[in-house]
Amino acid sequence: MNTSNANAESAASILAGQDGMTGWQEDLYRDLHAHPELGNHEVRTATAAAEQLRAFGYQTAESVGTTGVIGTLRNGDGPVVLVRADMDALPVAEDTGLAYASTQTADDNGITVPVAHACGHDVHVSALLGAARLFAEARDAWAGTLIALFQPAEELADGARRMLDGGLAGLIPTPDVALAQHVLPFPSGTVGTRVGAVLTSADNLRITVFGRGGHGSAPNLTVDPVVLAAMIVVRLQTVVSRVVPPDELAVVTIGKLEAGTKSNIIGDHAVLELNIRTYSEGTRRVIVTAIERIVRAECEASDSPQPPSFEYYEHYPVTINDVGVTETVAAAFAEHFGVDAIELPRQTASEDFSEIPDALGVPYTYWGVGGADPVAYREATKAGRVAQDIPSNHSPRFAPQLEPTLRTATAAIVVAATAWLAPS
Ligand code: ZN
Ligand code: ZN
Repeated sequence: MNTSNANAESAASILAGQDGMTGWQEDLYRDLHAHPELGNHEVRTATAAAEQLRAFGYQTAESVGTTGVIGTLRNGDGPVVLVRADMDALPVAEDTGLAYASTQTADDNGITVPVAHACGHDVHVSALLGAARLFAEARDAWAGTLIALFQPAEELADGARRMLDGGLAGLIPTPDVALAQHVLPFPSGTVGTRVGAVLTSADNLRITVFGRGGHGSAPNLTVDPVVLAAMIVVRLQTVVSRVVPPDELAVVTIGKLEAGTKSNIIGDHAVLELNIRTYSEGTRRVIVTAIERIVRAECEASDSPQPPSFEYYEHYPVTINDVGVTETVAAAFAEHFGVDAIELPRQTASEDFSEIPDALGVPYTYWGVGGADPVAYREATKAGRVAQDIPSNHSPRFAPQLEPTLRTATAAIVVAATAWLAPS
């Protein structure tokens, strides 16, 4: 490990090129923002990333997993640092009013849906390409190997897994450290790190409960799945409030409930889709056990003719930042960003990034970059209206303030990576 002075000097030399590329990078960002693509379909984005990387002199691998791209830049002896950006967008109708807002649609399993970069992955791609360019243009200021990894389908929880299954480990030298970041709804210009558990695990669960269909005029001859599902929805609210210990973080959300076709028909089934988030495997097991018990008991209470079915899908692991790596990055951020380097609060969001370092046996850290207008954020905080006034990730109104978000996200990668890549 180098002295912090050597790191700061290395980062400053590399970042000296930042002013000269702002126009290129902002154009790149606006283009990506206007052309979002759903998970595992990031063909245009991946092609753009690979073309840029080759132009900077990186050795590239494309179509890793599905659309994954890896750029490797070897610059003499030294540590190997992997930085990951996710590329996918969401089936959301953008409502930001931006000149470069998305008007794109895409086919999502046979349904035409609007598509938008409502989670800011376009910031991640632009920032990593910007950092990749800066490192390529300042080879005297660092030593080692930089791996820029562009991952598909974070939102589908399978992009990291697909890249691993697609032979990622054999395509890169083993990293000494893996880094990733996410733009979040706190003030633009700030960066936040956190040691230990930073993002929850997430599980999605589809429950189907069965009734006995019939005429709406004769409910006595039926088992009404609407009433059954409604009881389950209410009762499941007690899992977090009455089952999970009060000092344990947990979320159970029923995001989708579907039953019936018409007012005078009692249907024969209902489908509930749940999202479950925790910071520990033990709590996750407690929650899942309680959910299944409650659903079975409610089905029994309703005289349901068939046992319920439980289908788990889209699992995200807990993201647990390595202590040493995170402290190193936090110290580098504090030196470079000063008071704008903050401690990131725990997030009840989830990520599949950690699957890559975990599979490679590499320590990692994952930090947050602010994307909200700092003035609006300060006013919203004063008024106690952050939830109402500051659009969060996945909102149709989510749009990071272009600058200094992009500049900060790019600098964050350079500052963090040079903690390993500064010449010794
Ligand atoms: Zn997201
Ligand atoms: Zn995201």
